[in-house]
Amino acid sequence: MQDSYGRKIDYLRISVTDRCNFRCTYCMPQHQRFLPRSDLLDYTEIALISRRFIKHGIRKIRLTGGEPLVRRDVDVLIRELGRHVQDGQLDELTLTTNGSRLAEYAPTLRQSGVSRINVSLDSLKPAKFREITRGGELPQILAGIDAARAEAIAIRINMVALKGINDDEIGAMADYCAQHGHDLALIETMPLGEGVAGRTEHFIALDQFIEPLRARNRIIASEHRTAGPARYYQVDPLGLRLGLITPMTHNFCGDCNRLRLGSDGKVHMCLGSNFHVDFRDAIRNGGADAVDRLLQKALRLKPERHDFERQLENRSLRLHRHMNATGG
Ligand code: SAM
Ligand code: SF4
Repeated sequence: MQDSYGRKIDYLRISVTDRCNFRCTYCMPQHQRFLPRSDLLDYTEIALISRRFIKHGIRKIRLTGGEPLVRRDVDVLIRELGRHVQDGQLDELTLTTNGSRLAEYAPTLRQSGVSRINVSLDSLKPAKFREITRGGELPQILAGIDAARAEAIAIRINMVALKGINDDEIGAMADYCAQHGHDLALIETMPLGEGVAGRTEHFIALDQFIEPLRARNRIIASEHRTAGPARYYQVDPLGLRLGLITPMTHNFCGDCNRLRLGSDGKVHMCLGSNFHVDFRDAIRNGGADAVDRLLQKALRLKPERHDFERQLENRSLRLHRHMNATGG
């Protein structure tokens, strides 16, 4: 599949649910309104849309949310999508999670062919972690990560860079990841959604965030790539693989290879745009043919690039969606 700018599209992110058991301060407000359950695609619908997308060239699927592992019976969906990995039609099925249910789901993930996952972890201090997530318990997450490792699932820790909140922890997080053999990805906070307090004040460019790491190590560009937008580096002598995700300071739209299926059936072609194509009615009324037609439309409408830099400069927030609605 190609979009109208000639980019190859082979990566689908699926938001399994917009709900979450955490309320990370940069992601959503304390009192978030979620979609009524009747608006959500059911697992059969998600599986059917995924099958059509795979038929047209999607090779990688990431489940995300909200928190994908809080939706009831999500193992049914994981196993169903995992069959495409087992029969070779998908190169990879993976997951982004806050880790709170990982201990329970690690065996299902492994059995379904999931070999690596991203776990969000912004602090290694229990009180700070509770504050950022508004209620998360750090030991539970660390136990979930250990359970996944015990199933031989590779881990990438995702840490959102927050000035004045966790910028004193880059060294400790890098040490933790190096000791446990996890990769570490740092993410610049993006201006998504309304009612999220203090995000502009807490924005910090990653070049600055990694200064303490650079002071003690060599940070060497690496050839390693995944399907996502991270640029990778080797941190020596620490022995850490470090990914930098810099939507705000280094635009990577030219390499964008993805579409996002929201839990309500809307396909978003860009995290930074309000454009979408609604697949829910298509799947409910028109079946597979209608899905195929809409997919072509989504490819045609995929924008060339987002405009986060200008939004940061103007301190303006134009996007009403939160990250959990589109899938991070
Ligand atoms: N609940 C899961 C989790 O936290 O990993 C999956 C969904 S979450 C929306 C996916 C990723 O988006 C997480 O790594 C989270 O830290 C990141 N994220 C959420 N809001 C963000 C924002 N405004 N800017 C940058 N990253 C954000
Ligand atoms: Fe939930 Fe993930 Fe958003 Fe945190 S970042 S509130 S864990 S969806």
